[in-house]
Amino acid sequence: MKIVIALGGNALGSSVAEQKGNATLTAKKIVEIIKQGHDVIISHGNGPQVGLINLAFSEGKKVNPKVEDMPFSECGAMSQGYIGYHLQNAISNELALNNINKKVVTLITQVEVAKDDPAFLDPTKPIGSFYSKEEALKLGYPVKEDAGRGYRRVIASPKPVKIIESEQIASLVNAGFIVIACGGGGIPVISSDGKLSGIDAVIDKDFASSKLADQIDADCLLILTAVDNALINFGMPNEQKLVKATVDEMEKYNLEGHFKAGSMKPKVEASIDFAKGGKSRIAIITSIEKASEALQGLSGTTIRL
Ligand code: ADP
Ligand code: MG
Repeated sequence: MKIVIALGGNALGSSVAEQKGNATLTAKKIVEIIKQGHDVIISHGNGPQVGLINLAFSEGKKVNPKVEDMPFSECGAMSQGYIGYHLQNAISNELALNNINKKVVTLITQVEVAKDDPAFLDPTKPIGSFYSKEEALKLGYPVKEDAGRGYRRVIASPKPVKIIESEQIASLVNAGFIVIACGGGGIPVISSDGKLSGIDAVIDKDFASSKLADQIDADCLLILTAVDNALINFGMPNEQKLVKATVDEMEKYNLEGHFKAGSMKPKVEASIDFAKGGKSRIAIITSIEKASEALQGLSGTTIRL
């Protein structure tokens, strides 16, 4: 199968050392999947990394006037390189250990969003440093109070419309390469008069991975996160694992409010969007530990039309 694997935050961690260590563990799981004979395209989140990169510039500017604030699309591009490096390095090492003659490539990926996406009118995603109210109001950006901890800049999280480099990704996969792409949900760009340009936004990585899987006509969208299954009645005494579900069943559970916004809900909606595209498609939500079992139908939550 051609599989788009979306890695969650726990596959990477946040500090450099933690990310290197986690990438090594993640690479072992990815190589298990490759050993089963699948072609893989790997996407990943970048929340902590993009926040740190942005913070480094805004703090750096205080001690060196040559340093300027780094726009979020550039921070996203830097995070794709930084995380891509660790994953590319770890997967290559693991392939060599297993005597598998396959090569890995990381592709900087732009993702188009709509200029008039309603998310731009109501930015909700808190990012970067905390400020006092007075400091925050001087920033010139939209800010919101974040859970009693201070004020933070908020940016929009628009829906991905199109993965710009999907043809390059598909060609690399067809040529036998393992591709790391669409990191952090992709670099957000808008199109004006036929030109693409970066915009301050963060695209949800689950939605972007689903769009990528659709555009390259993958067979499977495998969303790897901190839990083995999507649950209904999450956190309640009657919580229940979902093992096999249809798109209609998942839509019903979603409307009933079983999946939390900002965590499980985007995964479920991304899975539904992908699985809706054809009867042969399968979306799976599970943990990294259970990934290869889930592909054999032995674990995880599997969603089909
Ligand atoms: P990732 O970094 O992989 O995107 P998130 O933290 O965004 O991870 O989402 C995964 C989390 O979603 C789980 O760790 C769990 O705490 C939470 N969650 C919310 N609702 C559910 C649910 N209905 N079933 C399972 N997990 C849920
Ligand atoms: Mg998430």
